[in-house]
Amino acid sequence: MSAAGTARRAIVVGGGIGGLASAVALTHKGWDVTVLERAPQFQEIGAGVTLFPNAIRALDYLGFESKLFVGQGMRAGGLRSNTGRWLMRQEVSQSDVAPVHRAYLHDILRSAVPGESLIADSRVTAVTLTGEVEYCKDGETRTVHGDLIVAADGISSGIRAQHWPELPPPQYVGVTAWRAIAEVRNPHDFGLTQTWAPGAELGIVPLIDGRIYWYAALLAPQGERFADNHAYVLERFGAWHDPIPELVAATEPGALLHHDLFHASRQPKTLVRGKIVLLGDAAHAIPPFLGQGACQALEDAATLGAYIDTRDGLDRYDRVRRERAHAVAKATRMTGRMGIFVRNPALAVARNAIVRATPGNIARRAMDRVTRWEVPAT
Ligand SMILES: Cc1cc2nc3c(=O)[nH]c(=O)nc-3n(C[C@H](O)[C@H](O)[C@H](O)COP(=O)(O)OP(=O)(O)OC[C@H]3O[C@@H](n4cnc5c(N)ncnc54)[C@H](O)[C@@H]3O)c2cc1C
Repeated sequence: MSAAGTARRAIVVGGGIGGLASAVALTHKGWDVTVLERAPQFQEIGAGVTLFPNAIRALDYLGFESKLFVGQGMRAGGLRSNTGRWLMRQEVSQSDVAPVHRAYLHDILRSAVPGESLIADSRVTAVTLTGEVEYCKDGETRTVHGDLIVAADGISSGIRAQHWPELPPPQYVGVTAWRAIAEVRNPHDFGLTQTWAPGAELGIVPLIDGRIYWYAALLAPQGERFADNHAYVLERFGAWHDPIPELVAATEPGALLHHDLFHASRQPKTLVRGKIVLLGDAAHAIPPFLGQGACQALEDAATLGAYIDTRDGLDRYDRVRRERAHAVAKATRMTGRMGIFVRNPALAVARNAIVRATPGNIARRAMDRVTRWEVPAT
């Protein structure tokens, strides 16, 4: 509450995972929140998303019980070469990672935001540092004022482009990716695995609801398009080890999503300008090599909630989130360099030998360093 006893108003631009999570956090803190989303409805399509312990802690802070993210058990998995040879085997328990459908996570977040706060079909066209937000709805231009503007408008953030003009646009990382959800008869036979070949990788991620999320990625020139994505993926990955051919074949061709991957090539020097705060991909888009993009958006939202009513809260948000995003982006780049960016077959053989000789607990500790995150104490 403000000194006058009225709730302060936050305008959240973007109703993705980061925007909705920050709306939940600010609502809990007594803010009057409006979320403006350009899409006609608040909904998420996409495929799967891996929620690591850092994301589960952020969700716990936001009031979501951990049982929401527990489901069918998972078989041990690990890392393989495309011939099927195990490079590293790993036990995976539900406390290590909760893979969910993106729509499931989105629905859970949305259901915790008051309905009157959610305004769809509203494209934000301009924002001022003093908190005026201009948006277009039903063919009309409207303006609202916020004491805080959360720019959660994703990797191609218009707000970042307007107020952080020194930053370059998102950059293609050199990788094109397909993602899909498949329903299989025998989900318990699928473990959480990643498979490498030179310049290519494929991940199998059993979701907590029993469906299988999988993705395939290749080094490719930007903008390359394929007449029939399903046929191309079958041809390119269909001779890899079992159960990859079965999984690709079991996928509805129309369920296959294809995107080039982009990232923020330069970090902002500050995440806060005037009343505007950058959050999620708008602040620090990373490629999905560690499955941390949405996890970081959730961390941002929980941190914003934790700091918002404290002295210098936005400065603290800015400091800790930039530092954290920098560390996670660095770990993500390292993972890419060890994985998909190894395109030379001889180097890939050498890389595989090194991975086979690396004790599993070392790899695990590296991942723990990324996911061992706590909501800041205030
Ligand atoms: C192939 C792939 C796989 C991934 N896998 C994982 C994974 O396993 N785990 C993980 O943690 N992360 C993963 N990610 C990353 C994750 O998807 C993103 O980091 C996350 O969705 C970012 O959330 P966000 O809310 O910041 O942005 P977004 O989800 O992009 O949401 C932005 C929202 O803003 C809206 N918007 C944009 N402009 C305007 C405007 N002008 N006015 C109003 N609304 C606007 C958009 O319509 C959208 O709804 C993956 C990403 C990709 C590409």
